[in-house]
Amino acid sequence: MLINRSITFLTTIVKASDNKMQTTQAIRCPNCGSHAERNYLASDQQTRTECPVCDYLMITCSLTGKVVEAYAPGIYWGG
Ligand SMILES: [Zn+2]
Repeated sequence: MLINRSITFLTTIVKASDNKMQTTQAIRCPNCGSHAERNYLASDQQTRTECPVCDYLMITCSLTGKVVEAYAPGIYWGG
């Protein structure tokens, strides 16, 4: 049990240092459905979703889930 817990602890540290810069995930753009990218910026505690096809942009705070910045051509936000 003690050994297992130590290994888990070590793994967590390695993951944390890997995520220090950013983690990129390939997703589908919620606006146009094309291949887009989601970046987790651990240092800023922000999640940034970007689509190069339609210029969709969504930046949310990964702690609160609040939208920091959002831009999507052809979509009305809260109109
Ligand atoms: Zn798009």
